[in-house]
Amino acid sequence: MPVYSHSRISCFEQCPLKYKLKYIEKIRPEIEQSVEAFLGSMVHTCLEKLYRDLRFQKIITLEELLAFYNEQWEKNWNTAILMVRKDYAPENFRKMGESYIRSYYKKHHPFDSSRTVGLEQRINIDLNDDGKFRLRGVIDRLACRDGGTYEIHDYKTGSSLPPKKYLEEDRQLPLYAIAVKRDYPNAESIKLVWHFLPFGQDVTVEKTEEELENLRIKTVESIRKIESSRKFPSRTSKLCDWCEFRPMCPEWAHVAKTETMSLAGFMKEPGVKLVNRYVELMEKKGEVESEIGKLKGLIFQFSKDKGVNVVAGSGHDAKIWRAEKLKFPGRDEEGRRELEEFLKKSGLWKDVSSLDAFLLSKTMENPPWPEELAKAVEKFGRKEMIERIYLRKKDGPGD
Ligand code: SF4
Repeated sequence: MPVYSHSRISCFEQCPLKYKLKYIEKIRPEIEQSVEAFLGSMVHTCLEKLYRDLRFQKIITLEELLAFYNEQWEKNWNTAILMVRKDYAPENFRKMGESYIRSYYKKHHPFDSSRTVGLEQRINIDLNDDGKFRLRGVIDRLACRDGGTYEIHDYKTGSSLPPKKYLEEDRQLPLYAIAVKRDYPNAESIKLVWHFLPFGQDVTVEKTEEELENLRIKTVESIRKIESSRKFPSRTSKLCDWCEFRPMCPEWAHVAKTETMSLAGFMKEPGVKLVNRYVELMEKKGEVESEIGKLKGLIFQFSKDKGVNVVAGSGHDAKIWRAEKLKFPGRDEEGRRELEEFLKKSGLWKDVSSLDAFLLSKTMENPPWPEELAKAVEKFGRKEMIERIYLRKKDGPGD
């Protein structure tokens, strides 16, 4: 079984296809990094330098640190870095990094509230003590104060400030806490400290033994789920814009290819032509359907007003059918559970219930049953390719 990491598990949760491309097929994409990730790594490098210098009793000045940051930026910048937000230039991002460093420096100077124990410290955790569920990670800065309090520091350069509740449910730092507890038996307490650099805010959370144990169990479950997955479907989200596999992802490959075409070339592209024609007809169909809906209402009203069941037309007559029927609560509607219980108790259930083939087919996408049982059920089905078209609205400028 491979060694897992928080980001590997998160990748599966975000999009199983991305997970497959990255971790199973180990494809090296052309785009390796977005500008946001590059900025994050440059800022991390700087803060690492700041604390590394401190170990040698040197407090680097803010000017020196910013000069180091800019030097690293110049040295490592390359044109393959992905710029998703087209309204901003690399220079904007470079300046953002400068401001994060400046505000962190001013807030924490002279950096003596805790003693640094490790920088970019690698940790390994055997989640089940059987070597099967191994996890590794890197702590941005591990620090210690008053002898027994350890702090796991994590620098965040993302553009959002998550509510504390979200952080209380975070997986990454608590997992690292499990490793720190094991590696530093003198640790009386462990604090998890997130530094949200764009906001100049630090958030500290402590976890109980019970919470860490629950997290360990949950993480083992997540890994088991990944290991037992046979299908890796794509899962689109806002994050696709930053996905390095977008140009080869079946959800986006054609979009990505056509994005770079000239307008004339784009309009002649066979796929574009097909979809444009389809949308044109669907729009007409929508108008026709709404007109039909309105006419149906008028014909019903006409038949009621005139007290007739057939309304005459030139080529066709319209026969109106009306019947009163009992309507019972649908699957998720109020009263459904009570109705089912009543029918079961009265022995009427088998007379009115039948197999829900749709539900069975949906359940078989990821059967919660033992493999043998799922295979036995599978034999009753036949594989059929289902094809549908869903239209996805393109983001307009400024969306
Ligand atoms: S572009 Fe989106 S759907 Fe495609 S692999 Fe990446 S995250 Fe998944």
